[in-house]
Amino acid sequence: MPSTIKIEEINDLEVKRLLEDTKFSRLKPVACSQCGNKANFARRLFKIKGVTKSKHSDDDIQGIIRYHFKQNYSIEHTFFKTIGRKFIVDTATCKNCQSAAITYDIELTSELISELSKFVGKSESKIMEDLNAVAEKLTKK
Ligand SMILES: [Zn+2]
Repeated sequence: MPSTIKIEEINDLEVKRLLEDTKFSRLKPVACSQCGNKANFARRLFKIKGVTKSKHSDDDIQGIIRYHFKQNYSIEHTFFKTIGRKFIVDTATCKNCQSAAITYDIELTSELISELSKFVGKSESKIMEDLNAVAEKLTKK
């Protein structure tokens, strides 16, 4: 375990820049689980320092950071993102009811489908077909 993990809030200007980054914004807030609001979210992003890139998806590290956010900011849902060498925590608050229990979703852009296609070695149309089949199963329950 690293000796010190530093958490630093990212300033408005850099938040704006990050949110415009398509890679960063793939995983984004879609709904408030308290009031159902689907569009009006306040984003707060934090830079995590003192964690090497190989540890970014480490459960213990993420657990410690989650605990910190719960204790200090009352934020229950935190999402971890790696952009280049930066380790970033993404949080959202509902502007309607101030809840921080926000559901995130991955937006399936054509760019992402194309990357997935290379990654799993299937054609883009086959991937869309598979995804639609999964979505159908999920909605049927
Ligand atoms: Zn809400």
